[in-house]
Amino acid sequence: MTQTIAVIRGDGIGPEIMDATLQVLDALDLGLSYDFVEAGLVAYEKQGELLPAATMDAIRKHRVALKSPLTTPVGEGFSSINVELRKRFDLYANVRPAISFPNTKSRYENIDLITVRENTEGAYIGEGQNLTADGETATLTQKITRRGSERIVRYAFDLARRTGRKKVTVVHKANILKSTSGLFLKVARQVATEYPDIQCNDMIVDNTCMQLVMRPEQFDVIVTTNLFGDIISDLCAGLVGGLGLAPGANIGTEAAIFEAVHGSAPDIAGKGIANPVALLLGAAQMLDHLDHNEAAARLRKAIVDAMAAKDNLTPDLGGSGTTQSFAQAIAARAKG
Ligand code: ATP
Ligand code: MG
Repeated sequence: MTQTIAVIRGDGIGPEIMDATLQVLDALDLGLSYDFVEAGLVAYEKQGELLPAATMDAIRKHRVALKSPLTTPVGEGFSSINVELRKRFDLYANVRPAISFPNTKSRYENIDLITVRENTEGAYIGEGQNLTADGETATLTQKITRRGSERIVRYAFDLARRTGRKKVTVVHKANILKSTSGLFLKVARQVATEYPDIQCNDMIVDNTCMQLVMRPEQFDVIVTTNLFGDIISDLCAGLVGGLGLAPGANIGTEAAIFEAVHGSAPDIAGKGIANPVALLLGAAQMLDHLDHNEAAARLRKAIVDAMAAKDNLTPDLGGSGTTQSFAQAIAARAKG
C-alpha cells in the first residue's frame, strides 16, 4: 500500500527546504506519495484562512504530515499556527533530538540526546491576560494534569526502551512552582517505577541548563513540561551547531506532524541558501514513525557523509553550497 503524506510547503524558506527534502526522499525510493496542502501565510493569502478545512482533513486522513515553517500573521485569531495545530490534533509529544554532526561549529562532538517536551499544557494553554486597563499588569495561568504528565513521561520512557537508550532525566522547577511542576515531578517519579530497566533522575531546570552546557554527556532522554522543553531544546540545538540541524516531531494518537525546529527565516528566504538538514532530519523521524527504519538510517547516514565530505555545505555551516546542491549531495548518497 502506498503511504501518502500531507505536505505543507510553508512560508519563508519553507518551500525551498521542502522541495529539497522531497528530492532526497524520492532518492530513497520508498514509493511515498504526497498530498500538498496549505497553511499559514500562503493559505491566508490564497484561501482567506490560516488553517483551511482541506488541510485539517488531509492531516486527519493521512495521519502523517511533513511541514515546513509557517508564518502566523499578527492579530489573526491565534498567536501561533504551530501551537494551534498541536492543540487541534492533540499532538502531545514534541520529540526533539540533538545529535552531533561532523564539520559544524559546535562546542561538542559526541552529543546524542533527545528532549521530549509536553506539547499541550503548561504555560501554552492560553495567552494570559492583562489585569488592569492600562496594560501594565498581566498574569498567565499554567495547567498541569496527571493525565497529561503521565502520558508524556510514559512516552519518554517508552521511547528510551524502544531505541535502546539508558536514562531519562525529568526536568522541573518543583522547588518554586510547587503545585504545577510539583505535580509533574510526582507523577513522573511514579511512572518511572514502571520502568526499572531505565535509569531515571530528576533535575531542576536552571541547573539542567548549566549541566547541559558543561557536561552534556550525562544526558540521554530529557522529559519536561512545555515551556522548559521549548527553551531546553533550543539550547540543545545550539550545542550541536544551530537551528539548521534541529528537527522535531509532534506526535499524538490520531496524527503526527514532522518539522524543522527553526522558523521561516525571512531574512534568507528566496535566496536558495537555507540549510535543508533540519527538515530532512524531521523526515527521518517521519520514516521511523512509518516503520521505514532502514530508510531512516540510510537518510541520516547520507547527511553525515555529505557533511563529513564538506560536500556543498550551506553558508550557515561555513560552505558555499545552495539548498539545492547540498540536497543533491545528500540525495546521491541516500540512493538505495
Ligand atoms: P519565524 O518568525 O518564522 O520564527 P525567525 O525570524 O524567528 O522566523 P528563525 O527561522 O526562527 O527566524 O531563525 C532564526 C535565524 O536563524 C534566521 O534569521 C536565520 O538566519 C537562521 N536560520 C534558521 N533556519 C535556518 C536554516 N534552515 N538555514 C540557515 N539559516 C537558518
Ligand atoms: Mg523563530
